[in-house]
Amino acid sequence: MVENGLCHSCGACSGTCPEGAIRFEETISGFLFPIVDPEKCTSCGLCLAVCPGESFGDALVDKLPEDPFTGRSIRSYVGRSLDERVYSNSQSGGVASELLIHALRSKDISGAIVVTMNPGVHPRPEAYIASSEEEIMAAQKSKYCPVPLLDILGQLEHFPGAVAIVGLSCHIHGIIKALDLFPGLTEKVKYRIGLICNHSLSCVSIDYLVMKAGFEDSEEKNLIFRDKSCRGYPGDIWVSSTDGRSVILRDRNRKRIKPYLTPPRCHLCFDKMNVLSDVTLGDPHGIISADRKNGESVCIARSRAGLALVESAIGSGRVTLREIPYSDIVRGQKIDRKRAAWRGFCEEWQSLGKPLPDYFPSIRKHADSIAGHSHRSVENTLRLSSFGDRKELLDWIKENDRKDLLLDAVRSVYTYPLLAARKLVSIFMRG
Ligand SMILES: Cc1cc2nc3c(=O)[nH]c(=O)nc-3n(C[C@H](O)[C@H](O)[C@H](O)COP(=O)(O)OP(=O)(O)OC[C@H]3O[C@@H](n4cnc5c(N)ncnc54)[C@H](O)[C@@H]3O)c2cc1C
Ligand code: SF4
Ligand code: SF4
Ligand code: SF4
Repeated sequence: MVENGLCHSCGACSGTCPEGAIRFEETISGFLFPIVDPEKCTSCGLCLAVCPGESFGDALVDKLPEDPFTGRSIRSYVGRSLDERVYSNSQSGGVASELLIHALRSKDISGAIVVTMNPGVHPRPEAYIASSEEEIMAAQKSKYCPVPLLDILGQLEHFPGAVAIVGLSCHIHGIIKALDLFPGLTEKVKYRIGLICNHSLSCVSIDYLVMKAGFEDSEEKNLIFRDKSCRGYPGDIWVSSTDGRSVILRDRNRKRIKPYLTPPRCHLCFDKMNVLSDVTLGDPHGIISADRKNGESVCIARSRAGLALVESAIGSGRVTLREIPYSDIVRGQKIDRKRAAWRGFCEEWQSLGKPLPDYFPSIRKHADSIAGHSHRSVENTLRLSSFGDRKELLDWIKENDRKDLLLDAVRSVYTYPLLAARKLVSIFMRG
C-alpha cells in the first residue's frame, strides 16, 4: 500500500496486527506510513485484509449509498453547543464534542477515540481514548494532518465499556473494515462520528507555519490550526512556546500552502462528506442562516443510531440545532466541484501509470470528466514526494508561498475596487 501511494495513514493495520509488528514513521514529505518489523511479523495477512487504502472490498462497496459523493441524510441541522466552555473551545460549533459529552453523561458510552495536538519541538497530533469531559475538550479543534487514529484499536480490548469514534472518512472506512473482520469489536464501537474532509496536509505544514511564526527549531511549542479566540470564526493560526510567547498568523497562511502540501491520496479520495458515518459534522459553508461570526456546526444524521443520539442531545438541552435541507449543505460544500476535481485527478494520475483505489471504476459514473483540469495538483504532489531532505522541501514551500503572496497582492489591487464598485451598485439598486 505504501509503495503504490494508496495508504492514507488510517492506522487500521497497526491497530489490528496481533503481533504489534507495525509502527508509523514520518517521511521527508511529512506523510505517516506504516513500517513492518520482520522479526515480529508472522505473515498472517490481517493487515492487508483490513486495509481500506487500496481495497474497499465488499464490506465497504456494499454499504456505499446510491450517490457516494453526497450520501444519505435522515435529518440535517445547523447549530452549536449550549455549554459556553465547549463552544468557545470548539472548531466550528462544538457539536462533535457535545455529542460525545452527552453520550458519556448518559452512560451510553464510557469513552471516545479523539485526537489532540502534542506540544514539542515538532508538535504532532495523537489519538487517545478520552473517558472524561475534560479529556474530550482537550481534543477539540481540527488537526489538518494525517493521524493513524485506528492504531488505538489495540487498546480497546482492555477498555471497559463502549466508545464513540470521531474520525475523517478514511478512518471511518478503516473502522468498518475492522468491524467486519473482527465482529467482537462491534459491541465496543457504538458510534461513528464523522468529520467532513476535503483533504489533510502533510505534517510539514506544522513545521512550516511554526517557522513562519518566527520560532526556533529547537524550541518546545504548540500549534492550533484554527483558533476562534483569534479574531472570531473561522479562526487564525495560533503558535505558542512553553515559555509563554505566542504568535498569531492569519488563516490565509494555511490556505496558501494547501496546493503544495496536500497528499496525493487525498486527491484520490471521493468521500468528502463522510457518507458511512452515523453522524457527520462540518463547517457551515454556504448556510445562510448560520452564525458566521462565532461559528456553528452542520450536523447530518445518517443512521437511525446517529439520529437517536442527535435527538437525545437536543432533548438534554446541551445543543441547539435547527433543521435545514440537506441539499443546502451539499451545495455549500461544493460537491459538484469535488466530483470534477476527483475524476480529473484520478484520470491524470492513472495516465502516469499510477494505481487508483479499487472503487474508482464503480464511482467514476458519478463524476463528470474534466481531463487536464488537475494538471497542477498532480505536478505539485509529485514534487512533494521528490525531496531528498526536509530543508529543501521547506525552501520550496517558502518560495511558492512568497510567489502566491505576491500574486494575491496583485489580484487584490484589481479585486477590491471591483468588490467596492459591486457593493455600491447593489446599495444604489436597493435604495
Ligand atoms: C483534516 C480535516 C479536514 C476537514 N475538512 C473540512 C471541510 O472540507 N469542510 C468542512 O465543512 N469541515 C471540514 N472539517 C471539519 C471541521 O473542521 C470541524 O472539525 C467540524 O466542523 C466539527 O467541529 P466542532 O466544533 O463540532 O468540533 P470540536 O468540538 O472542535 O471537536 C473536534 C473533533 O475533531 C476531532 N479531530 C480533530 N482533528 C482530527 C483528525 N485529524 N482526525 C480525526 N479526528 C480529528 C477531535 O478529536 C475532536 O473530537 C475538517 C476537519 C479535519 C480534521
Ligand atoms: S502480516 Fe500479520 S503479523 Fe505481519 S504485520 Fe501484518 S498483521 Fe502483523
Ligand atoms: S490500513 Fe490504513 S494505515 Fe495501514 S496501510 Fe492501509 S491505509 Fe495505510
Ligand atoms: S481527504 Fe480522504 S484520505 Fe484525505 S484525510 Fe480526508 S478522508 Fe482521509
